[in-house]
Amino acid sequence: MSPRFSASAPLDSMSEEELMVPERLALSFEVIPPRHDADEAKIDRLLETLESYHPDYIAVTSSKRSGWLEGTTAFIERISRTTSMRPLAHLACTAGSRTELIGWINRLVDAGVRGLLALRGDLPEEGLPEHYPQHADELISLIRQLERQQAARFAAGRLAVGVACYPSGHVESKNEDEDFDVLLKKQRLGADFAITQLFFDAQDYLRFTKKAQLAGVHIPLIPGIMPMTSLRRVERMGELSGLAVPERVRSALAAATTPEEEYETGMELTTELARDIVAGGASGLHIYTHNNPDNTHDLLTRIGVDNDQR
Ligand code: FAD
Repeated sequence: MSPRFSASAPLDSMSEEELMVPERLALSFEVIPPRHDADEAKIDRLLETLESYHPDYIAVTSSKRSGWLEGTTAFIERISRTTSMRPLAHLACTAGSRTELIGWINRLVDAGVRGLLALRGDLPEEGLPEHYPQHADELISLIRQLERQQAARFAAGRLAVGVACYPSGHVESKNEDEDFDVLLKKQRLGADFAITQLFFDAQDYLRFTKKAQLAGVHIPLIPGIMPMTSLRRVERMGELSGLAVPERVRSALAAATTPEEEYETGMELTTELARDIVAGGASGLHIYTHNNPDNTHDLLTRIGVDNDQR
């Protein structure tokens, strides 16, 4: 994340406290590598719309559907070639052995990546092969080790390493304490920031960040926001993330009598969620775009984020 500080007064006349006040909300987007038969014009429009917001970075997911890091890297190469956006690659343990992942990290760095989101990935039924990293914490160590070995290549700089975190708890965790212990371990191993899994209640995020701080987490926990465009979408995403959709959200969306009304209700719920967490102190928003530029633009307009002013 690149913090931007208030430029309204000369820097040397500002107190330390004033210097620390972010002038604007950090903004990042998550996109999915397009399928090989994707409509090129749609991808161009997606990237053009997202770029118009000058995001702090654009995160590209990695999944079996997109050929693991093959799809991620190809999309990042395209983003780097055709836009000015700074790409961040999702790197999941599920994508390969330690040796294979080192090869991918090198290729991603060559493609312009200076940030990685270290993830375990969604487990296949049979679990992960033994020679794959088993948890995201191993990936952080792998990245930091590679960085030390190649210090000259990075001109002694660092790769930004992000991790996932879970305001409503990770489905496999025994309890909340486990989630905080894992997050603290990741911070200790060198994670610079975390992006949250989607959540439906502002209080879940605000309570989570407060408890994390008390537990000793000092890295930013960036809220991931999913535009709630329909009940079907919300239920599907809840299912994939192991999250129950609250009755409040379900009944509001189910009460709509047309798809337009459903969209309107969902976007208003999302806007309220985003506004509440920003009012509660979140310093940035990470939008799960699902590669839809119109919904993303609509949501940001409703929240009051204007692409001309960024
Ligand atoms: P881990 O940190 O490994 O945690 C998984 C479980 O294991 C937790 O219960 C944790 O408490 C426990 N645990 C952690 N470390 C250890 C340890 N050392 N020993 C024992 N137990 C441990 N998935 C994809 O496949 N591709 C993506 O691009 C992708 N992007 C995502 C982006 C975001 C912002 C988020 C929040 C999730 C994303 N996911 C993605 C989903 C993610 O891979 C799943 O949530 C996955 O189930 C867990 O990933 P993790 O990195 O949190 O795993």
